Amino acid sequence: MSTGNADTVAPLRDFVVEMTKLVNLETKENKLLSEGTGLLKNLIKTDSWLPEFCTIPHPEFYQQFLLHADPLGKFSVVSFVWGPGQKTPIHDHCVWGLIGMLRGMEKGQRYKQLPSGELIQDGPETLLRPGDIEAVSPTIGDIHVVSNAVPDQTSISIHVYGANIGAVKRHTYDPSTGKTKDFVSGYSSKQIPNLWDRSAEVRATL
Ligand code: FE
Repeated sequence: MSTGNADTVAPLRDFVVEMTKLVNLETKENKLLSEGTGLLKNLIKTDSWLPEFCTIPHPEFYQQFLLHADPLGKFSVVSFVWGPGQKTPIHDHCVWGLIGMLRGMEKGQRYKQLPSGELIQDGPETLLRPGDIEAVSPTIGDIHVVSNAVPDQTSISIHVYGANIGAVKRHTYDPSTGKTKDFVSGYSSKQIPNLWDRSAEVRATL
């Protein structure tokens, strides 16, 4: 039996444990993405595990709360919090990424860069609803723009990346020229959820 705050976060801890096993066993990107999708789908079935401080929008900027970074930098998990009207620049990731919609809705448009440098839309605009997952990577298509699809509410998606994404040099793209600029996304908070306090659970067995 389990009680207390440490257990609220149990689905995230379980996800981190399973992802850690996956990234250490599997090196093929397509397998990582398909098995990671299954794990993320399971995580976003419920949303009560997400700590309150990782759900708070900023009036101006979309927020990226770090939920977990693998000690060896093999993956990271981030809570993306979108206020009304907030949107990313066109950007890439330079590593694989999975986006799982938790609350609200998110719009996405993918792009391809032609050898001339010009950016063209790659498929139609997509809409993610709670439970939906999308994948990006340099192999399957890595350039997109994302925005909150709900005009008057906060939306939240859980992102998993194949590196400590706050330490990856990647790029934004000028929509008209395709010119790139280096950027590093960083994190919105110095705090991360405490996944590892299991004392209440153990004390309950005393
Ligand atoms: Fe992205």
